[in-house]
Amino acid sequence: MTGAHHNRREFITSVAMGAGASAFPRPLVAQGAQPRIVVIGGGFAGATAARFLKRTDPRLDVNLVEPNPIFSACPFSNEVIAGLRDMRRQLFGYDRIAGDGVVVVHQAATGVDVQARTVTLRNGAKLNYDRLILAPGSDPRFDALPGYDEAAAERMPHAWKAGAQTMLLRRQLEAMDDGGTVVMALPALPYRCPPASYERACLIAYFLKTRKPRSKLIVLDAKDTFSMQRLFENAWKEFYPNLEWVPVSSGGNPTGVDVAAMTVSSDFETYKAAVANIIPPQRAGRVTELAGTADRTGWCPADPVTFESRLVPGIHVLGDAAIAGAVPKSAFAGNAAAKICAAAVARLVRGEAPIEPKFVNTCYSLAAPDYGFSVAGVYQPVNGQWLEVEGAGGISPVDAPRAFRSQEAKFANGWFNTITAEIFG
Ligand SMILES: Cc1cc2nc3c(=O)[nH]c(=O)nc-3n(C[C@H](O)[C@H](O)[C@H](O)COP(=O)(O)OP(=O)(O)OC[C@H]3O[C@@H](n4cnc5c(N)ncnc54)[C@H](O)[C@@H]3O)c2cc1C
Repeated sequence: MTGAHHNRREFITSVAMGAGASAFPRPLVAQGAQPRIVVIGGGFAGATAARFLKRTDPRLDVNLVEPNPIFSACPFSNEVIAGLRDMRRQLFGYDRIAGDGVVVVHQAATGVDVQARTVTLRNGAKLNYDRLILAPGSDPRFDALPGYDEAAAERMPHAWKAGAQTMLLRRQLEAMDDGGTVVMALPALPYRCPPASYERACLIAYFLKTRKPRSKLIVLDAKDTFSMQRLFENAWKEFYPNLEWVPVSSGGNPTGVDVAAMTVSSDFETYKAAVANIIPPQRAGRVTELAGTADRTGWCPADPVTFESRLVPGIHVLGDAAIAGAVPKSAFAGNAAAKICAAAVARLVRGEAPIEPKFVNTCYSLAAPDYGFSVAGVYQPVNGQWLEVEGAGGISPVDAPRAFRSQEAKFANGWFNTITAEIFG
């Protein structure tokens, strides 16, 4: 299709669909072509999108680009770090997704040509697309915290991507002497799943309490407040006298690391660490920058109804990489958003208007084995942004009995088994 044709059709269809409709409608099915959708990133968001696109319309030619043959899931990886769970339970393959008719390409995407609508793969091959979905997750910003670069992460793991980093932190904790200090550094918002950083603090403190009782954990935090704060603080009080949280107002803001000296600095002090877990500031996965969909914040603004990029028409951004109002950077939300996006893309390629969605997110946290709580929210698009529906969500009660916490820990397990079975099973 030539640019001239495209512009005319875009104008006609935009008028037909009204304001707020996608700027890139191409009714390809009506033309008899088989539209090709390329999805980059086979994590919670991208793998869901690929599978649901094929289910929604089997005629679509869906390609999923993901370098790793095995996906390592982050939710529950804090339990792996604390020695409470086997890493093998975090691993998932792509055979069932391929069995549904999705073409799974185990390569990294290294470039996107938005004019030619092609994706370049690491092996030099190119894939054409009619619509592109980017779901590469988050990347650490290795230029944000002085001293913390890719090499430093091999000594002071972030473990904010599951896999080798998870096991590195676990082995370091196991190997350290009883009496050593563990230092965690937590960034300012936004970043991938903030509640998981407080869950990790709890579970590392649990590990120390049960395995290295003379050790302590210092948590340096660039924040003063966070989600489910009272629940976490109560758990710290009840279980973890070995955990010291230093919020930003008490000088906790992490300002740099020295890998050779094994120190972590904050506004006021320098801490010597036996083990350091540095969660650095983050941004959308790098391929979003290559496609021009990331703005100056490093994240990708997206339309709430279709998750189409606000910067590059024809490209949708899902999961952690997207900023779309109040949507949390969680696996739960990435999965929900992917289903909404898949439905929208299937309609857009037929030249139909997408349907206004709503969705739910729940984040479970474990403060100890068999001790969980959660926060839930319902989201809907209002004036081009996802907003939380007032009064529809909620947080676990602060004064719940122990049996309630135990129940929520079971729900957390159930949630993980369900979502991973839906995506990979
Ligand atoms: C410790 C921890 C605990 C968490 N616990 C929870 C929880 O309990 N509940 C919850 O809902 N969320 C949780 N999360 C958050 C959740 O893991 C993320 O929000 C979720 O993984 C985001 O999904 P995504 O698809 O955007 O990214 P990911 O799941 O990270 O997937 C991105 C995929 O893209 C691939 N990729 C990247 N670049 C390229 C490229 N150039 N070419 C091809 N492929 C590429 C990667 O290999 C990866 O497979 C937790 C996170 C952490 C760190």
